[in-house]
Amino acid sequence: METTVKTSVDQALSLINDSVRTLKPYHLTPETRSVKLNQNENPYDWDRNIKERAAAFFTERPWNRYPDFVPDSLKARLAAYVGATPDGIIVGNGSNEMLLVLMLSFAAKAKSVIICSPTFSVYRLLRDGMGTRPIDLSLTSDLQYDIPAVKKASAENPGAMLIICSPNNPVGNTVSEADLRDILNAHTGVCVLDQAYVEFGGFNAISLISEYKNLIIARTFSKAMAAAGLRLGYMIGAPEIIGEINKIKLPYNINFFTEHAASTILDNASTAEKSVAAIINERDRLYDDLKAMPFDDIYPSAANFILIRTRHKQKLFDHLKKCDILVRDVSSYHLLENCLRFSVGTPDENNLLRASLKSFFEQI
Ligand SMILES: *Cc1c(COP(=O)(O)O)cnc(C)c1O
Repeated sequence: METTVKTSVDQALSLINDSVRTLKPYHLTPETRSVKLNQNENPYDWDRNIKERAAAFFTERPWNRYPDFVPDSLKARLAAYVGATPDGIIVGNGSNEMLLVLMLSFAAKAKSVIICSPTFSVYRLLRDGMGTRPIDLSLTSDLQYDIPAVKKASAENPGAMLIICSPNNPVGNTVSEADLRDILNAHTGVCVLDQAYVEFGGFNAISLISEYKNLIIARTFSKAMAAAGLRLGYMIGAPEIIGEINKIKLPYNINFFTEHAASTILDNASTAEKSVAAIINERDRLYDDLKAMPFDDIYPSAANFILIRTRHKQKLFDHLKKCDILVRDVSSYHLLENCLRFSVGTPDENNLLRASLKSFFEQI
């Protein structure tokens, strides 16, 4: 049977916001290797008995009923964990959803969003997708925050949204408390501080929230808490501000399995803390060992990954794949030509990485 096309694909495509059509999609090649050092995940999975405790709840809980309207008990536990009050916390489907909620809450009024590159690419994706005016600053040549440049952009664009990531992905650099205060003392817009990696290092800015009501801190269960598959992120801010932002968040954005599994994780937070201590120790050892290898650059990191630069980038990436190791190629980022990012794995995984790097540098 013939169907007549009433609206063509081109016509339908032309209806999509230009800001969305011009986006380059967030892309990760769906590849894997047995040693997976490309997504900064915690290499230590949760014990089976802890998973089974959460799964038992999942089996008993009626699936036909909605989850809690407000996950109060999870928020209370999170608040106690981070040292905030429950009304100063908002939870979401990964911190990426929280970033979207921030854009919906602030971007139109802020008019412009300041991002310091290289940094987490989702900021740019959301900002540009919203059609908000971009203000792109650069890190310094040694990949540190350029504080005078941030202050200048902030002064020239009153009310602009500023996004700072500390520890910053994919570099590992941080902003110090003194520098953050210096920025916040003059900044009139909202300042989003993404601390997805703060458990691994850098300064914990929670205490600044009571002083700076325009500061919002984003955190996640995807890295230190070893729960990337759950999709749980949260933000901490002044209760008055979080209360308003809550209105634009989708109802029931946390499914009951995530809610319950996250509570189980918080009950066992000391297990995650032990793995974080081990990862920090491994990171520092790995950094020292990599420093002795003939990379063109290696950057100090306060997170669970290490950024390196080598003129043999592609050959090394392929060699590691042959050794069954997948790392992240970040060479297309601003200032990161020839750079690769290695997530810190278990001691065995890191040893395989060391050995594979050694064999690579011996053969070239
Ligand atoms: C991994 C990461 C996140 C985590 O995002 P989720 O949506 O919570 O998984 C957030 N910010 C940065 C900078 C990251 O690298």
